[in-house]
Amino acid sequence: MIDEAPPAFDIRVWGARGTLPGCGNGQVAYGTETCCVEMRVGGRRLIFDAGTGLVPLGRSMATLGELEADLFFSHVHYDHIMGLPFFLPLYRPGARVSISAGHMLDGRSCMETIEDFMRAPFLPITPKIFAAEVDYRSFSPGDVLAPGAGVTVKTGRLNHPNGAVGYRVEHAGRAVAYVTDTEHVEGRTDETVLGLIEGADIVFYDTSYTEAEMTKFRGYGHSTWEEGVRLCQLAGARRLVLFHHAHMRYDAEIARIEAEARLVFPGTIAGRTGLSLTLNEAPARV
Ligand SMILES: [Zn+2]
Ligand SMILES: [Zn+2]
Repeated sequence: MIDEAPPAFDIRVWGARGTLPGCGNGQVAYGTETCCVEMRVGGRRLIFDAGTGLVPLGRSMATLGELEADLFFSHVHYDHIMGLPFFLPLYRPGARVSISAGHMLDGRSCMETIEDFMRAPFLPITPKIFAAEVDYRSFSPGDVLAPGAGVTVKTGRLNHPNGAVGYRVEHAGRAVAYVTDTEHVEGRTDETVLGLIEGADIVFYDTSYTEAEMTKFRGYGHSTWEEGVRLCQLAGARRLVLFHHAHMRYDAEIARIEAEARLVFPGTIAGRTGLSLTLNEAPARV
């Protein structure tokens, strides 16, 4: 029997839409769920964002009896947190969940912000109902986090209304970046984003709009597939995952954008619920 080592990164997308869940009718091929990406790395389960995709992920974890996770918010706009109150591991005694956020306004901590979100009259429950051991962690963009042995998470401030944080996860010579909800400034390279995606194996990037649409949506805090391609080329990144699909986007449009992007950057793939990507340990450099 061959004893295969687990991949260095085992990534699964649970939600790739932005702003609002899809509503069926031509919005199903890429999934209807909002932002949630799971990375199993170095024996830990890191989860980026708690959009509606977090709900089926939680069900799957509860079914398997796997009740540990480190959750990181890009920020707390609804499409990135609305799955949190429905994340089953939070209701399981013995579960251990850390929740990290790094962009809070007015000096609010991660816990205060979640308490603000989960309360009457918006919800009938508060975080006090959680049976899991929950560790709320606040950090500042730019901090380097270490959620597990040999796993480094670099963070950086993104250009988004009310703030957002981008992440770069490094392990076993590989790097995966999660950069969503960020607006680029035309003609200027965002050095923070460039630093997060430099030489990365996989880059999740906010490709809500196209450049042609951008004139209508300046100031909303989002970017384009064209800018994603430009940044990945500049950074020497290998694979671009189109992410945070605009809520009005239909399947056929996403497929067309993916095809267009592939013509200029063949490593492009459209994010969708159920997309699974793995990376083996990087070969040692000699
Ligand atoms: Zn968003
Ligand atoms: Zn946002």
